[in-house]
Amino acid sequence: MTDRALLDLAVAAAVENVAAGGGPFGALVVRDGEVVATGVNRVTATLDPTAHAEVVAIRAACRALGTFKLDGCVLVSSCEPCPLCLAAALWARVDRVVYAADRHDAAEAGFDDRAFYDLFAKPREEWEVPVVQAEAGDRVAPFTAWASRPDRVEY
Ligand SMILES: [Zn+2]
Repeated sequence: MTDRALLDLAVAAAVENVAAGGGPFGALVVRDGEVVATGVNRVTATLDPTAHAEVVAIRAACRALGTFKLDGCVLVSSCEPCPLCLAAALWARVDRVVYAADRHDAAEAGFDDRAFYDLFAKPREEWEVPVVQAEAGDRVAPFTAWASRPDRVEY
């Protein structure tokens, strides 16, 4: 399938999700031209602020393929992934991301995707929500424990 055909599927899933009472976002994970999984925004339905269409699709694709790595896959989204979803795509190691609407279209519809991208471009000192490093007993203890496990599963 072409990008255009896949994007049309993602957009159609998003429109259907609105009809079902959900948010206006849909996404697919595609491998070798085949749709592995579809996701739609489930934030309000599941009381989960991270249940964005792309995250839902990535989780479903990983379950379907029995893996936590989606190399060889493409993430197709009805809208430019927000920073959460873009990071999720990077963590999932997808080969490519393609989207239809952009952050400006989302902003016009009342969503904060562009606002968060703008925020990340500013120094943290200017953020309304403090994100600060503070003293802890042994801040690298988790990494020391991790490094000492020869059976660790790298991801
Ligand atoms: Zn998102």
